[in-house]
Amino acid sequence: MKKELGIFTFSDLLHHFPFRHVDKTKVNLVNEISAETEYIQLAGSLISFEVLGHRNSKRAVGLFKDESGIIELAWFRGTNWIQKSLTTGTSYLVYGRVTYFQGKPQIVHPEMELLTAEKQEGKNYLEPVYPTTEKLRAKGLGGRQIGKLTQALFGVLQQKNIPENLPADILKQLKLTDRFNAYKEIHFPQNNDEFEKALRRLKFEELFIAQLKVIRLRNKRHRFSRGVVFDKVADLFNTFYKRDIPFELTGAQKRVMKEIRADTAKGKQMNRLLQGDVGSGKTIVAVLSMLLAVDNNYQACLMAPTEILAQQHLNNISAMLKDISVSVKLLTGSTKTAKRRQVLDELKKGTINILIGTHALIEDDVQFDNLGLVIIDEQHRFGVAQRAKLWEKSETPPHVLVMTATPIPRTLAMTAYGDLDYSVINELPPGRKPIITVHRNESHRSRVMHFIRTEIDSGRQVYIIFPLIEESAKMDYENLMKGYENVKAYFPEPKFRISMVHGRQPARQKDINMLRFVQQDTQILVSTTVIEVGVDVPNATVMVIESAEKFGLSQLHQLRGRVGRGADKSYCILLTGPQLGTDARERIKIMTTTGNGFEIAEKDLELRGPGDIEGTKQSGMLNFRLASIVEDKAILEVARSMAADLLEKDPDLISAENLPLKNFLEEKKSSVVWSKIS
Ligand code: ADP
Ligand code: MG
Repeated sequence: MKKELGIFTFSDLLHHFPFRHVDKTKVNLVNEISAETEYIQLAGSLISFEVLGHRNSKRAVGLFKDESGIIELAWFRGTNWIQKSLTTGTSYLVYGRVTYFQGKPQIVHPEMELLTAEKQEGKNYLEPVYPTTEKLRAKGLGGRQIGKLTQALFGVLQQKNIPENLPADILKQLKLTDRFNAYKEIHFPQNNDEFEKALRRLKFEELFIAQLKVIRLRNKRHRFSRGVVFDKVADLFNTFYKRDIPFELTGAQKRVMKEIRADTAKGKQMNRLLQGDVGSGKTIVAVLSMLLAVDNNYQACLMAPTEILAQQHLNNISAMLKDISVSVKLLTGSTKTAKRRQVLDELKKGTINILIGTHALIEDDVQFDNLGLVIIDEQHRFGVAQRAKLWEKSETPPHVLVMTATPIPRTLAMTAYGDLDYSVINELPPGRKPIITVHRNESHRSRVMHFIRTEIDSGRQVYIIFPLIEESAKMDYENLMKGYENVKAYFPEPKFRISMVHGRQPARQKDINMLRFVQQDTQILVSTTVIEVGVDVPNATVMVIESAEKFGLSQLHQLRGRVGRGADKSYCILLTGPQLGTDARERIKIMTTTGNGFEIAEKDLELRGPGDIEGTKQSGMLNFRLASIVEDKAILEVARSMAADLLEKDPDLISAENLPLKNFLEEKKSSVVWSKIS
């Protein structure tokens, strides 16, 4: 029992919840059996019993009689034991599934229990069925036997063993079952309605407690952290904002800037996650925030996940800031020694205001004069430990802004990142043309290639992406090579030029091949998903994804975001084999019907469940016993707002009515008081 199910204590047993209930609350009559009857419970007496056949063909047959008729009971296993445990002439309660043998109804392997006076009318609760394992079942601890243990436990449990932890007004407002009864009724409800109510109460409790914890964590950081103060908006910011931005900021960009300014002016460290779909304009937010830092005499740095992206940011940002007197420099792993020494020197002296780079920025010899702001682009490539290293680069920890283009569904963000501050750019700059997304299969290949040719003929560039999945790496790699040869056959040199990028190339080779595409030296880029993040080639208008059924939704969306960055109409072609599974079909359908990253992220969460979503696996925030952030979204929203309200009114949970809650949170191990049980 212990090893198999992880049940070591009474509390474990209490939390081993049934996965369904069996309705034995009614007792029917034999003559009520009809073609529709599935399971039935009967009360009557065993009028005959005999064992027939030998050895392997041994079976037991009994006749069972109630006031309305007779039905046959049959056993094909355990006949000896059955024979010993039943007595003819005795009254039993029989439960089982009705099947037909030679046109007559019978019950095979019925559950039998002695009929007592109080069982005459059936049980007054639904009988729980618990998850168990084959091993335990073989030892006689099936799902129903576990129920007997749980029932015995409730025989001695009292209200005070499972004290209420939620404040009375929340219970009242949401009409929640009290805690003791919720535990009792999730195991032994009198009817389905009672079960649903118990389940809702316990789910709410789980989500509410989790929200309370993350919000408290966040409040604590807000109250006790120290941060550098950006209290003035001065020349650089204002001049750039008024004179140099070639467009009007979107409403969402303005809102996010306000949030960042408010956050960095308070003397507390900002720790903010900024989400915005691909192309939503996060870069300008980063630039404005860095100017804010410089206006306040601090340095800022921007860290990108790859050399190409860092270089791209440098080019973009230097161009944007060419009329502003700030010094912007680059530092990556391939910065030459002499140049590197110079950058490090200027950085230390404080003459560099903005440093852009890669992982190279976190090395120990990179020392700032007074670092005030760290911006991390495309966060999921950086671990938490790496982020922490950046904090240490300054006596007072710098503000941190993490920007991600992988939208995280709201419910997930609330739970897994609930302790971070969090901003969303939920609006694209005006005038964006939607990317036309279509699904094609193998039989359309030559038409797809023909289409690509017309785009190239009019001066555009094309991505062709192949899957590279760890489990099938060797085969995928061969497919990539075959695909590359294939593309070359369709698009022969020298008229067409193709470059290829994949993870097995040395980094330098990869960068050179990529750069050729960026500089429009090649028209086609054949690649694995290594290009997924952030690359910006506005002239590329077609994204072909081979074996699209093998990609997850978020990944497809990220890949698609590589096109549609220029003024021209763009296309995403999802190529698949002829046969698609249900999930793959669903993913393709979603991709061809919406371009909204948040909507796609929600669907992805629904299809895959929270366990597989990037960056949440280790969070441990999502291991709920009963609640699901997918199915119980509505409860989560309520729990979130109630937890926030409560902490707003009583941040330290000192009022009398919140005392049970405080005690519950502070009790380290068990949530149930066992002292009085023996
Ligand atoms: P991402 O969020 O994917 O990093 P970028 O910051 O690269 O997006 O912005 C994508 C493109 O949109 C850039 O060419 C940028 O100049 C442009 N852009 C950003 N904000 C606006 C805006 N408010 N109006 C018009 N174009 C904008
Ligand atoms: Mg970007």
